[in-house]
Amino acid sequence: MLLSGNRSLNAVAALSGGEGRIARSVLVLAASFALIAAIAAADYLTGYDLRLAILYLLPIALATWKLGGAAGALVALSAALIWTVTFESNHPYSHPFYLYWEGAITGASYLVIVVLLARLRQALERSDERFVTVLEGLRAAVEVEDARTQAVLYANRRFRESFGAAAPLLRDDGEFWDERTLRWYLLQSQPLRWIDGRPALLRVLSDVTEARRARDLIERHREAAHRTSRLVALGEFASAIAHELNQPLAAIATYNNTCLKILQSGATDGPEVREAMQKCRDQAKRAGAIIQRLREILRQPGPAFVEQDLSEVARAALQLAEGEALEAGVSLELAARSPGARARVDRLLIEQVALNLLRNVIEAVRPLAPEHRRVSVETAVDAEGRVILAVSDSGDGVPAEVRERLFDAFVTTKPGGLGLGLSICRSVIEAHGGAIRYEANGARGARFAFALPGTGS
Ligand code: ADP
Repeated sequence: MLLSGNRSLNAVAALSGGEGRIARSVLVLAASFALIAAIAAADYLTGYDLRLAILYLLPIALATWKLGGAAGALVALSAALIWTVTFESNHPYSHPFYLYWEGAITGASYLVIVVLLARLRQALERSDERFVTVLEGLRAAVEVEDARTQAVLYANRRFRESFGAAAPLLRDDGEFWDERTLRWYLLQSQPLRWIDGRPALLRVLSDVTEARRARDLIERHREAAHRTSRLVALGEFASAIAHELNQPLAAIATYNNTCLKILQSGATDGPEVREAMQKCRDQAKRAGAIIQRLREILRQPGPAFVEQDLSEVARAALQLAEGEALEAGVSLELAARSPGARARVDRLLIEQVALNLLRNVIEAVRPLAPEHRRVSVETAVDAEGRVILAVSDSGDGVPAEVRERLFDAFVTTKPGGLGLGLSICRSVIEAHGGAIRYEANGARGARFAFALPGTGS
C-alpha cells in the first residue's frame, strides 16, 4: 500500500513564486535587443537589398510572448527606431518626411503584431487560469509529479492543505490510511505528458473516510441481520420439523389404530394387517427422509434439483394422502395430467408441498355431505412454458379474514393449526423460482396452484 514520506513541495512554491522572474525578464530583453542589433547590422551590411527588417519580428515576438505587451511594444519601437536611423544613413530621401513616414508605418505594423500576440497570450493565460481555478476548487487533492524524478510539478490547494510540505509517498492505486491527517484516501493515478512534454503522473486523492465509515456501518448491520436471520431460520427449521413430521406421525398412528382394531377383532394375520403395517413402515421411513432432507438443507442451503414429471409427483402425493382421505371419506382424483409438465425440482420438497395442499383441501371438505367430499389434482403447462400443479376442492373457500395473509407464517383458522403449511409451501416454491397462489374454485371451494419454470422437454 502507501507509506508516508517526506517529499518536499518546495518545487511547487518555486514554480508559482516570483523568484527569478526579474532575472528572466532581463535575460529575455537582453536577448531581444541583441537580436535587434544583429539584424540591424546584417541589414546595414547587405545594403538593405535583402529587406531583413521583417526579421525584427523575431525579437518582438520573443519579448511579447515571454514578458507581455509592454515589453513587446518597447522592443517593437526600438526595432522601428533602429531601422529608421540606420536606413536613413544609407538611403537618402528626397524629403525627410518620407523616411519618418516609412519608419512610422514599420513601427505601427510591429505594434499591431505586438497587440495581436499579447491578446493571444492573454487568452491562453485566461484559459489556463480557468483550469487552475477548477483544480484549486476541487475537494479532491490533486498532484502531478515527474514520472522519472518524482518531483512535484503541480499540487492543488487541497493537496497542499492536507499534506503540507511533506506529501505522502504514493505508490499503488487504492485506498490508504494517512497517519498525519488521520483519514482514509482513495488514490487514482493516470500517466500524462506535462506541459513541457516530459512524462508525468497525475494523482487524485479523494477523502473516503466518511464513505468507509458508512460502509463499515452497513457491514456491521449486515452481520447483525445475518445473525438474526440465522436465528429466525433456526426457529423456522424447528417449526418446519414439527409441522412436517406431524403428517407421517399422524398416518403412523392411523395405521397403527387400524392394525389394533383388526387384531382386537380376533384376526391375527391377514392382508389388511400386513398392508397397514407396510404403510406404517413407509410413513416411518418418510419421517426419517424428511428429517434427513431438512438437515441437508440446513447444512447446505439449496434444494437438490433433478428433472421430474410433475404428474408423477402429484400421483405420489395423492398416494401419501390416501390414508387421511380414506379416513375422512374424501375421494381423491387426478383430474388432468399434462405429459410435458416437467421441471427441475427437489422431489421430496415438491411432494411435501403437494401433500400440504392436499391435507388442507381434505380438511376443507371433511364437514361437507359425502357427495361433496371431492378434491382433485391437475397438472398443466401454461402458454409461457411454466408447469402448473393445482389442487382444488368444493369446500367453503378460504375465510375472508385470512385471505390476504394466507401464505404468511402462523396464520391459521384451525383450532389446533400451526399456520405454517402454506408459508413453507411458498418458501419451497420460491426457492424453485416459482410462485404459488390461491383463487376461488369457480362458484364453490378453493384452488391452490403453484407454477414452476418448466424444462420444456
Ligand atoms: P394450518 O393448516 O396449520 O392452519 P396452513 O398454512 O396450511 O396452516 O393454512 C393456513 C390457513 O389457510 C388455514 O388455517 C385455513 O384457514 C386456510 N386454508 C388453507 N387451505 C384451505 C382450503 N383448501 N380451504 C379453505 N381454507 C384453507
